[in-house]
Amino acid sequence: ATATRALFMLFGATGDLAKRKLYPSIFNLYKKGYIDQEHFALIGTGRREWSDDKFHEVIVESVKDNAESEDEAKGFASHFYYMSHDVTNPEHYDALSEYANKLDDKYDIQGNRIFYISMAPNFFGTVAKNLKAHNCLSDNGGFNRLIIEKPFGRDYESAEELNNALGKSFNENQVYRIDHYLGKEMVQNILALRFGNPLIEGIWNNKYIKNVQVTLAEKLGVEERAGYYDGAGALRDMIQNHTMQMLSILTMEDPVSFKDVDVRSEKIRALRSMRIYSPDGVRENFVRGQYGKNGDQADYRHEDNVPENSNTETYVAGKVMFDNQRWANVPFYIRTGKMLADKFTRIDIVFKKPLIDIFAASGKQEGDLQNNVLTLFVDPVNKVILHLNGKKAGQGMEMQPLDLTHVQSDAEKAATPEPYERLIHDAILGDATNFASWDEVGRAWKFADVIRNVWDHDQPAFPNYTPGSMGPKAADELLARDGNEWIKK
Ligand code: NAD
Repeated sequence: ATATRALFMLFGATGDLAKRKLYPSIFNLYKKGYIDQEHFALIGTGRREWSDDKFHEVIVESVKDNAESEDEAKGFASHFYYMSHDVTNPEHYDALSEYANKLDDKYDIQGNRIFYISMAPNFFGTVAKNLKAHNCLSDNGGFNRLIIEKPFGRDYESAEELNNALGKSFNENQVYRIDHYLGKEMVQNILALRFGNPLIEGIWNNKYIKNVQVTLAEKLGVEERAGYYDGAGALRDMIQNHTMQMLSILTMEDPVSFKDVDVRSEKIRALRSMRIYSPDGVRENFVRGQYGKNGDQADYRHEDNVPENSNTETYVAGKVMFDNQRWANVPFYIRTGKMLADKFTRIDIVFKKPLIDIFAASGKQEGDLQNNVLTLFVDPVNKVILHLNGKKAGQGMEMQPLDLTHVQSDAEKAATPEPYERLIHDAILGDATNFASWDEVGRAWKFADVIRNVWDHDQPAFPNYTPGSMGPKAADELLARDGNEWIKK
């Protein structure tokens, strides 16, 4: 492992994400030696008046399950410094800059700085602007990198505005936009499976693929996130970011190399060929849903903090087309929703049947040949199943399904870092492959905005699906019209 010297400056250090995900991830990187244990410090800021001691207690509490001993956790926590700070007050940044320089000297960090904004998105631009204006960036040859949380805007216009604000302080190659789906093992495995296997990449096109299905299903409702969720909806919360990222990896051409610039430029090219619908195209190709009541489960409009007349969608299904040589005429069906039958993320690649079924033609077999399907299970287990047709043992020539299955072993599972750990590590290394670039984000917003505009004007017939189902009927009809069906019912 290369141990990198780093000073972190974390905005939102008292928040939920910091405690649940960021501290454990940074701890693991420290423990594994990816962060230089001698040359590391973190300044955490938040609105609360915490002392360093209080901050250390929180850190120890949040990492103790992964620590060998309390001493190890305390040793780690001793690198943490707290500053009560109002991010909208410019003067505070002078103190922050001074503190950063002091800690840089103390730990001999040599100017490597990672700024992590884990706060409500309306603060992203303000923090970035003040960091630069008040000399919080180092200027002695170390790196300055900005990691920001989602959501990145709520439509193209606000995203562009945010991007311009960040751009005044940081170059595009210094900005690391988190999309934690890109930190998932199976999502990264798509590139390995495609570009490491001529067997797969050779048939990864419209000659052999009938359709592709991407499902991000959640079993829970809005829980305590209703306040945020009702103003966003499933299109913004799951489709514009995670689903679009997965689509771009599935559809991209082979990159010149595995370097971040090369991978990202192919992802952008793929997204640029994604068809942006007219309003009628939206009505034809996209379905929205909102869950109703089921037994004790309240319908969405009666959840806490949701207005009774809310038209926010808790479900989206759609057909996405890529107008290029490789993908012309291949529908990519996507869907996501809350209160569905189960919690899982999976990708089904459905292949065409042989043009001629010689088995049936020769009268030797009874059943139909099935479509070959390659299923990539992203969550909750990493698994790959290739669904083939084979011969049933015995006399004659009867066909039966033959599944090739790979399930992640316990050892592989143990070796799999949490998405946040992996992504923070990538940022420390300066590798932006698994972060969303502005061009990707912008393109995805342009796609989502036309859908949003139609939905903001057309009155929906909500509620239209039952908790515990796989969504509204219209989502099945969307595929049926093309002679297709969801592989996962
Ligand atoms: P949170 O509300 O728990 O924490 C917000 C933090 O911001 C606190 O530390 C608070 O002190 C600080 N803060 C608020 N106003 C401030 C001000 N004026 N000056 C200084 N500090 C201020 O939020 P969270 O759940 O930790 O989420 C943080 C970010 O991460 C958000 O962008 C969110 O969308 C994103 N995110 C969160 C989760 C999650 O599971 N919590 C998951 C994905 C993304």
